[in-house]
Amino acid sequence: QVLFPGAAPTVTTDLSNNVVLTTVNDLYNWAKMSSLWPLLYGTACCFIEFAAMLGSRFDFDRFGLLPRSSPRTADLIITAGTVTMKMAPALVKLYQQMPEPKYVIAMGACTITGGMFSSDSYTAVRGVDKLIPVDVYIPGCPPRPEAIMDAIVKLRKKIAAEDMRERGRLQQTHRYYTVKHN
Ligand code: SF4
Repeated sequence: QVLFPGAAPTVTTDLSNNVVLTTVNDLYNWAKMSSLWPLLYGTACCFIEFAAMLGSRFDFDRFGLLPRSSPRTADLIITAGTVTMKMAPALVKLYQQMPEPKYVIAMGACTITGGMFSSDSYTAVRGVDKLIPVDVYIPGCPPRPEAIMDAIVKLRKKIAAEDMRERGRLQQTHRYYTVKHN
């Protein structure tokens, strides 16, 4: 709150105008976007491109991304490949085990819509966003490593514009959908 000379001080509960809080918010977002740690998660052929991106040719680490084998130490999940009905409960459990704040990138046609399995298959989930909230979608079959890096850049921009209090609220109010397990 800015006080001009002679103005009577007023008490406000609106913290959005607080200069200190805004600065902390920016610092918090910068730290988050500079150290995204993706879970090593792949269920089908899209993961081959994801694995290619981990190689030195694409220099994935320059974004501060460090692949993790445990959801307890990951804050990003890139769903690379088809999500089957049998895999759906495991994916939701992995997501729930990741600490907040956490992000999801849906990679490939199969993950986003069911892909080639979307019309007459009873085994594939037709849209991973029916299970967990998705931040960025990468279309393609399969998307190339450059497309994954583009999604990372978009996610970083999204994080940079986030309000740390709103993100917490969104996560609290999110409802997980249940998928019938065959
Ligand atoms: Fe495989 Fe294409 Fe499906 Fe990716 S979108 S899992 S490459 S069939």
